[in-house]
Amino acid sequence: MSGPERTVGTAGLVFREPLIFDQGSPGRVGYSLPPCDVPETAAEALIPPHLLRGPIAGMPEVSEVDVVRHFTRMSQWNYGIDLGFYPLGSCTMKYNPRVNEDVARLPGFGKAHPYLPDALAQGALELLWELERDLAEISGLDRVTLHPSAGAHGELAGVMMIRAYHQAKGNPRQKILIPESAHGTNPASSALCGYRVVSIRSGPRGVVEPAAVAAAMDDQVAALMITNPNTLGLFEEHIAEIARIVHGQGGQVYGDGANLNAVLGVTRPGDWGVDVLQFNLHKTFSQPHGGGGPGAGPVGVRQHLVPFLPVPLVEKTTKGFTLDHDRPQSIGRIRSFAASFGVMVRAYAYIRSLGPDGLKRAAETAVLNANYLMHRLKGSYHLPYDRVCKHECVFSDAAQLPHGVKTLDIAKRLMDYGFHPPTIYFPLIVAGALMIEPTETESKETLDQFVAAMQAIAHEAQETPDVVRAAPHTPLVSRLDETRAARQPVLRWRPKG
Ligand SMILES: *Cc1c(COP(=O)(O)O)cnc(C)c1O
Repeated sequence: MSGPERTVGTAGLVFREPLIFDQGSPGRVGYSLPPCDVPETAAEALIPPHLLRGPIAGMPEVSEVDVVRHFTRMSQWNYGIDLGFYPLGSCTMKYNPRVNEDVARLPGFGKAHPYLPDALAQGALELLWELERDLAEISGLDRVTLHPSAGAHGELAGVMMIRAYHQAKGNPRQKILIPESAHGTNPASSALCGYRVVSIRSGPRGVVEPAAVAAAMDDQVAALMITNPNTLGLFEEHIAEIARIVHGQGGQVYGDGANLNAVLGVTRPGDWGVDVLQFNLHKTFSQPHGGGGPGAGPVGVRQHLVPFLPVPLVEKTTKGFTLDHDRPQSIGRIRSFAASFGVMVRAYAYIRSLGPDGLKRAAETAVLNANYLMHRLKGSYHLPYDRVCKHECVFSDAAQLPHGVKTLDIAKRLMDYGFHPPTIYFPLIVAGALMIEPTETESKETLDQFVAAMQAIAHEAQETPDVVRAAPHTPLVSRLDETRAARQPVLRWRPKG
């Protein structure tokens, strides 16, 4: 491979691994049992025939060692935040402190059964209650439901509450305004609640202009859904004025809080005029995530929306902490039990271990790191909005396209340099976008290594574009047919022949 020496690498002891079905040999097993010292009874005599499993053709016959090595080797084909830099814009792949894991595994939390009566779950309920208070304080909102299982689920719950609020006043209204830079889940959540989506253009500075909102606003608009900082990593500087315009016609302001990590402890959505906001705990408050892993999207609301929050809510009474199900105007239940509890424990540990000053420093460092990368890379890559960014910066492939190298090629080539690629082709308003989010947990050395790799790729795009177009060269699998993988997934193994 050409280019500078890799410091983080995918070369070396990476094993080629056949399917487990192609391993083992007939009769090999992964257990040994002492001889049976009681009379044996056939399973058929004990279990009804319809519950008995028949023979499975081609079932792998393997030992314990075979199984452990197979899955451990396959796990090494994966990439995670514990392996290296993961600048996936919008996803906030920050390092997850180990103390969170310790706390989540305390037996009282880790082994608590969800059917425990309130009286035996006081510690767990108190943690949920305290976390709700912390999130309310951080966001400047009044109450928070911890139930939604992801950001998108939080959006859905939030829009359901907005609909219930308007409905209670006699008219659910018809439309939701969404800036064109929005995450795709925003229009999806709105449509699921029966709203028509009206797209709002961003202005030349990459943010929404109040005039554009005023022009689209009428008494059939249920809400404006706005992400701040937006997906270009830019702070929506007119947010307070925009909120006034929406409220002026009785609309609600839904804040997509997925990028809250950029403003933690510095400014609060509630103070901008936001009525509803989802927190992506798996982004801002450090949870292991990726590959659809555990997450949570609590939703904070202002006082007038509190009656519509999902049930149950944790309440503090003279008899201790209880789960309140008796909320007649609630949108109802949106998941089982009281929350993704392990996620809540980790988020609480994160907030408490950093404290108010630490959270603020995390946001400031995330912003500093993103601006550092932006400035170091803007000589090599086209920067469509050249202004101070928040937690992420968005480049494009405009400078490489004349050499026949596009964003996808740059992303694939980064793997040869040992880095997870950034988010690509999003936000949609930047053609060939490369959306880079370093987070606050990376050192200057790591950022400099990434800059060196990106600069080397920009140089290669001019000198040896074929090398970039054929990348990646080092991983075990190179370019996959992603369309076919999405349209014709093979999820079930079938014996050959
Ligand atoms: C990640 C993200 C979402 C969706 O959150 P999930 O937890 O992935 O469902 C919504 N909006 C923005 C801006 C995001 O970055």
